[in-house]
Amino acid sequence: AYNFSAGPAMLPEPVLRRAMDEMLDWHGSGMCVAEMSHRGKEFMSIAEQAEADLRELLAIPDGYKVLFLQGGASTQFAMVPLNLMGRGEGADYIKTGSWSKKAIAEAKRFGAVRIAATTEEDRFTRAPAQDELALDAGSAYVHYTPNETIEGVEFPYIPDVGERPLVADMSSTLLSRPIDVARYGIIYAGAQKNIGPAGLTIVIVREDLIGAATEQTPTMLDYRTHAESGSMYNTPPTYAWYLAGLVFQWLKDLGGLSAMATINERKAAALYAAIDASDFYANPVEPGSRSWMNVPFTLADPELDAKFLAEAKAEGLLTLKGHRSVGGMRASIYNAMPEEAVQALIAFMQEFERRNG
Ligand code: PLP
Repeated sequence: AYNFSAGPAMLPEPVLRRAMDEMLDWHGSGMCVAEMSHRGKEFMSIAEQAEADLRELLAIPDGYKVLFLQGGASTQFAMVPLNLMGRGEGADYIKTGSWSKKAIAEAKRFGAVRIAATTEEDRFTRAPAQDELALDAGSAYVHYTPNETIEGVEFPYIPDVGERPLVADMSSTLLSRPIDVARYGIIYAGAQKNIGPAGLTIVIVREDLIGAATEQTPTMLDYRTHAESGSMYNTPPTYAWYLAGLVFQWLKDLGGLSAMATINERKAAALYAAIDASDFYANPVEPGSRSWMNVPFTLADPELDAKFLAEAKAEGLLTLKGHRSVGGMRASIYNAMPEEAVQALIAFMQEFERRNG
């Protein structure tokens, strides 16, 4: 079966098989990784290898810390303003869909939030162009959501924000393609899409942005706490960290993020082409802003939605129901989704249209 869930999502089968092989006795240690002390030499070696592999995959330059945290991307919605708001007069946020709206609502609790651009009047069907961004001279930082998981809208460019730190919620796009980390102040992502299982949050933070949290900031929400302790101030999500490490090794074996990007681009192009070729299916997003990872689509007759989902499930095509806020369908096609799965989905969609169109 192929699971098109937006997250938690499919993990690469070789990763799951390896985790199964190592489940009862990791490398002769006599322990499952979930049983290990996070400060023991076995887990420390797993943690260090995972970080080294992630740094290699993303070509993370010197001067950035990589943190392995808990709390999900949603906790970063608060942690970012708590740590950065003090650097300027409020912050600029780009509003492109459901997740950036949540980030904005949370940031407002900690300081002034200006909307640098919004596509709400277009019902979040596109990314704003660079010349639409109205950035304030005194901004502490600029926040955006490169890939809106629910609306299926992805920025085709990195916003130019001058000297201001650029903060990106990459929950549903990190590791889908190479990125220029040096353009960012902070990148964060919940792991449960392209990285590993739920419970782990990756934060890549430029070192000069660490250490300016407001005085009331809880210890656990201060980047400095985690940067100074190698993400071991308290017990980290050890098993999720280990599984993420296996995913990083799988990506390296595959040829890294350029190789992954080629496959992802092909998968997305095939699915959008199938949708565009039909009057039975539709995707509302402007072609230049379409997500490689999350492909929402509607059926011409919503009365057929339940039938579509039931028949897809019977074919082993699982969790295609769209987010409750937008309805319709959504196919999340993260790294672990094989190309043949996308082809199977397209074949099913065409056959369903032939019988019901
Ligand atoms: N941001 C984006 C873009 C997401 O897709 C999600 C979850 O789907 C979140 C934030 C929230 O992540 P979490 O559940 O890890 O807090």
